Amino acid sequence: MRHNKSRVRVQYHFRDAGEKLLHGLEQNVRILLVNDDGIYAPGILEARSSLSRLGEVFVVAPERPRSAAGHAITLHKPLRIAQVSLPGGTGYAVSGTPTDCVALGYDVIMLSQCDLVVSGINAGANLGWDVTYSGTVSAAMEGAVLGIPSLAVSLVLKEERDAAPDYTLAAEITLWIAQKILENPLPAHTLLNVNVPQGVVRGLRYTFQGSREYEERVVERHDPSGRPYYWQAGVPRVNNTEAGSDVHVLEEGYVSVTPLQLDMTNHVLAEKMRGAAFWHYPDQSASGHSA
Ligand code: MN
Repeated sequence: MRHNKSRVRVQYHFRDAGEKLLHGLEQNVRILLVNDDGIYAPGILEARSSLSRLGEVFVVAPERPRSAAGHAITLHKPLRIAQVSLPGGTGYAVSGTPTDCVALGYDVIMLSQCDLVVSGINAGANLGWDVTYSGTVSAAMEGAVLGIPSLAVSLVLKEERDAAPDYTLAAEITLWIAQKILENPLPAHTLLNVNVPQGVVRGLRYTFQGSREYEERVVERHDPSGRPYYWQAGVPRVNNTEAGSDVHVLEEGYVSVTPLQLDMTNHVLAEKMRGAAFWHYPDQSASGHSA
């Protein structure tokens, strides 16, 4: 069923990445760095300091946290850009969604001169089918829509309230993968979804989207006046991880890299439907022919 079950073991020391930077690459690499956790999130600052070794980094991020914004864009109201001072340099805070940040960052701030879009580093994993909710992954998808090499990077939290997550390795891997895709571009309209665990990491695996099903997705509570309200959360079911999937390799202590594509078509099913009498709908034409 799945196309890519190959497991590639990368014999590489991530910490050496910086020594080999820019060999064979142009010096004037321009990187658009966005996120969905907001411009003051620690993950984007860690990514900037790491990516600065590769080129010029433009930090363009939502003015407030916009996790789970999906691929939303802002229509019918104005968007503002505010220049803000951040550790490591200027940033641009946008009054919209992560995808708005890619559009404005590319068009307005970078004047369409952009070699790479990086989204993250997100506080929390983006795995399996959850990528459709993810502002982090969707922002990288927008980069792919624009035809720019793009990657999304997320840090797996140790628990829901991980007070001080360690972005060090995730930042190094962001740099390593950024360099790889600049040296050897991805096919058009694809992006990489990268998830990095904390602690001892055993290596890196190229994966596919696992299934992540949740229990107790909607919880009912009651407000002080007794009226019900609802809270969306959910606990991932842990018993159904397919070997080699993003979910699975992270459980095994590896970095997961999943190539995603904008085309969500099930081509096999589409072909079957075209050939099936059951799905046949006769052509209507002005000349009266029907197939
Ligand atoms: Mn987020």
